[in-house]
Amino acid sequence: MSRYRLQPTPSQEMALLDHCGHARFVWNLAVEQHTHWRPGRKSAPGFAEQCRQLTQARAEFAWLRAGSVIVQQQALKDFAQAVARFFAGTHRRPTWRRRGRGEGFRIVAVRAGDVRRLSRNVGEVKVPKVGWVRFRWSRPVPEGVKSYRITRDAAGRRHVAFAAIPAPIPAPGTGEAVGVDRGVVVSAALSTGQLLTAPGLREADKARLRRLQRKLARARRGSARRTRVRRAIATLQARARDRRKDWVEKTSTDLARRFDVVAVEDLKIRNMTRSAKGTLRMPGRNVAQKAGLNRSILASGWGQLVERLEQKARSRVVRVNPAYTGQRCSACGIVDAKARESQAVFRCRSCGYAGNADVNAARNIKLAAGHAVTAREGPRVAEPVHREPQPVLLSA
Ligand SMILES: [Zn+2]
Repeated sequence: MSRYRLQPTPSQEMALLDHCGHARFVWNLAVEQHTHWRPGRKSAPGFAEQCRQLTQARAEFAWLRAGSVIVQQQALKDFAQAVARFFAGTHRRPTWRRRGRGEGFRIVAVRAGDVRRLSRNVGEVKVPKVGWVRFRWSRPVPEGVKSYRITRDAAGRRHVAFAAIPAPIPAPGTGEAVGVDRGVVVSAALSTGQLLTAPGLREADKARLRRLQRKLARARRGSARRTRVRRAIATLQARARDRRKDWVEKTSTDLARRFDVVAVEDLKIRNMTRSAKGTLRMPGRNVAQKAGLNRSILASGWGQLVERLEQKARSRVVRVNPAYTGQRCSACGIVDAKARESQAVFRCRSCGYAGNADVNAARNIKLAAGHAVTAREGPRVAEPVHREPQPVLLSA
């Protein structure tokens, strides 16, 4: 995703607002249908059924018909994806969209000539029912744009983000596999021992954010000051988001280039973040601390990283069962809940192996993938699968 500042004329801005309104309307209808749904009832309408309903609604309402069918259908598609992500446990339940908040719409089936450069700093993009809208050509537009999204931020600025699914990166062909643990102390630990941390805000920005949030709490509703503070907060958060996205791109490219197989936990993030009551990783322990860590886990952009990995290392990503990866010793294979000395240190009481707890987990993930990969006769993992614990060591 690369974002560019859109520069619509006033009349184009009106037309873009209409698109946003239609997308919001359709999205909210879908939300409403799903809020009526309860477990045990006939399932809520899916994407195909909702598209049929949209066709009927367009036949009925002239104002809806006047809008772009792509915009409206894509709002349904976004919703379907949001529901799927919710059930996968990686995202919250989709909720109502309000005017002026996170507004946007998506256009698909973009053709080669629909994005073009006018001059050094100016490009334009063809928007259905709006026409050619200019944008600031602040960096190269990716090749093979298939879709784009037009958004309006809290400050009223419009952006266009072009999406091109990244081309798959060829495997290095070394037979090397890597286990990647979604750590809590660091953003990612590799079975090679490398620890990766997704950038968030710098300390100075964090302090500034806290100050702004206090200011916001004191500012009167509807005041100009409140609007100003909200904008400043949104800018800081956008900066953190951009840095994280950048990290996701670099990290996924790096892993896809270096390894033939990338093993990750088939972990429902929600299990870790939403229900602090207990998970397979750390059943029922440190519940209070975990609740505090929720934000940082989600902030580290796991969903984004795995999504990108699956696009770049196409069919080379293996998901493994996360059971006990945090408690099993990657050297001798014994499961010992007490071996996890702290969030950061794993020390096996059977064989004496000690190391970073996240790296130990990453090694276990790699071992687990070794089984899965060999079973399908794919590339072999060049490391022994874990051995059963030795009786002598157990009694020690
Ligand atoms: Zn051990």
